[in-house]
Amino acid sequence: MSLPILKFEAVIVGGGGAGLRAALQLSEAGIKTVVLSKVFPTRSHTAAAQGGISAALGNIEDDNWHWHMYDTVKGADWLGDQDAIEFMCRQAVDAVVELEHYGMPFDRLENGKIYQRPFGGHMANFGKQPVRRACCVADRTGHAMLHALYQRNVKANTKFFVEWMALDLIRNENGDVVGVTALEMETGQVYVIQAKAVLFATGGAGRIFQSSTNAFINTGDGVGITLRAGLPVEDIEFWQFHPTGLAGAGVLITEGVRGEGGYLLNANGERFMERYAPTAKDLASRDVVSRAMQIEINEGRGCGPNKDYVLLKLDHLGVEVIDQRLPGIREIALQFLGIDPIKEPIPVVPTCHYMMGGIPTNYKGEVVAPFGANKEEVVKGFYAAGECACASVHGANRLGTNSLLDLVVFGKSAGNSMIKFIREHDLEYKELPKDAGEFSLQRVQKIDASTSGESLAELRHEMQRIMQQHAGVFRTQKVLMDGIEKIEALYARAQNLYIKDKSKVFNTARVEALEFINTIEVALATMICAEARKESRGAQAREDYPERDDANFMCHTLFYRDGRKIIYKDVHVAPLTVDYIPPAKRVY
Ligand SMILES: Cc1cc2nc3c(=O)[nH]c(=O)nc-3n(C[C@H](O)[C@H](O)[C@H](O)COP(=O)(O)OP(=O)(O)OC[C@H]3O[C@@H](n4cnc5c(N)ncnc54)[C@H](O)[C@@H]3O)c2cc1C
Repeated sequence: MSLPILKFEAVIVGGGGAGLRAALQLSEAGIKTVVLSKVFPTRSHTAAAQGGISAALGNIEDDNWHWHMYDTVKGADWLGDQDAIEFMCRQAVDAVVELEHYGMPFDRLENGKIYQRPFGGHMANFGKQPVRRACCVADRTGHAMLHALYQRNVKANTKFFVEWMALDLIRNENGDVVGVTALEMETGQVYVIQAKAVLFATGGAGRIFQSSTNAFINTGDGVGITLRAGLPVEDIEFWQFHPTGLAGAGVLITEGVRGEGGYLLNANGERFMERYAPTAKDLASRDVVSRAMQIEINEGRGCGPNKDYVLLKLDHLGVEVIDQRLPGIREIALQFLGIDPIKEPIPVVPTCHYMMGGIPTNYKGEVVAPFGANKEEVVKGFYAAGECACASVHGANRLGTNSLLDLVVFGKSAGNSMIKFIREHDLEYKELPKDAGEFSLQRVQKIDASTSGESLAELRHEMQRIMQQHAGVFRTQKVLMDGIEKIEALYARAQNLYIKDKSKVFNTARVEALEFINTIEVALATMICAEARKESRGAQAREDYPERDDANFMCHTLFYRDGRKIIYKDVHVAPLTVDYIPPAKRVY
């Protein structure tokens, strides 16, 4: 059966910050561009970002991009690529000014300059003392950013296919990417979209865990699709647990609370972070704070009837600061727990928040994969940016507010690379393979034809439970080995999904089934790569290998779905212009 074919020079999959920034670059250059999104673009997870976007503006005290770079390399526990990190930190100031010119309503200082707040791991003078570097719009920074970017895209005439779900990449016999297949949710029709260049900006996959700050749509589609297309994913074992998810609900309480002066307490009323990170205290980087909290809870100093959370105290900040800088947090605490933080502390637990790994790219946003001896051959026609990509600026642990920055810097950079690729080669559309779309169609038809099989809700619940128990804040060999066995068994069951609703129009059961098939790929890859990395670094905390092992593991993991193969590639230790920052012990 032949599928309808649409043609666009550039296809962007994802309408979050990264996708919209790239689309803007392309549309303004006159490239015929379409953005596909499962939801209306301004409902993407970027809209949930609270705390801020980092840039060494130095509006309150001295700051510069080189200190920002140092913090990012250190925060990443020396797994980040220093060329990409230099690129991002150098661009940060211009990126924030650009957003400001797009109409993003940043909070201001008395003198009219952009207000900046402290955040975890943001330090001056190469790690010496905290510095205010996070630019924000109260505690709704992502919302403001996404709306500004969306409006600029409307002005630039970007075309949007809203409620369309990309299913698979189309590669030709040379391995070049020549398009995608996608499902129009409204009609249930599968399309082939032919393209000269395809960008994935599909966001994270935090939904593989039971307790997560992530939106329901963060199902890791881009990563699942990439793995199915025979390409590897990078450093997928590294998942950031945010220290302050609302206990029980998982909803995020921004690090901006601690930036504004809030702090954590255990059941004894002790400000325990003073013991774990004497200098940065509650503003040490996220992996450090999450582990400290987990230890307090594990050792019986947790709060509440089950001693399973700690408290975030902020009432001492006063009503004015809370209402002006953290209004959303007050609302969340009231709505979800009936607690008013101007009077009482908020119960919090470490909660899955961010995927450091993803589709391997260079700092130009080009997807790279091993080919022969070259471990970083560019995959022609394929680009990635934002949380689904691994550039790798966040290495083993991301610093707060560096993701919103990553979206605009690498969204723009990838957009520029795509323009160059399309223009410089005066590129014609490459021919589609004869069977383009067949694979996707068969996948959809298999689900539609199911008369019995596994329940999606059950499998998803089971996966989240396994991930939480076997790949959480602390990991060990035995727990991970058991985890692999359980996830492999679940993976096999997932090949036999059954949905009852077979209707065509807005069939959410079908969409969720297709999402789950991607999500389980991410879960499996995570477990296998976490077992293989026998060291502790950043977010990967192995109780059986408590030390960082630079001799054997200062390298990126590349995981392939076929044969569950893992290969390692070198970290880019050389920055673009400055001296490299040599590994050191990470203390805060
Ligand atoms: C609660 C919360 C608060 C945060 N706060 C901050 C913060 O203050 N500062 C900071 O720097 N970072 C923060 N982060 C992290 C940051 O917000 C995210 O990493 C970032 O917004 C991801 O942006 P993105 O453009 O990569 O993807 P997203 O914004 O997640 O967008 C993904 C897009 O891809 C689309 N999509 C996905 N799959 C498909 C498919 N198969 N077909 C079609 N479309 C698809 C979706 O519809 C969506 O439009 C926060 C994250 C969370 C969860």
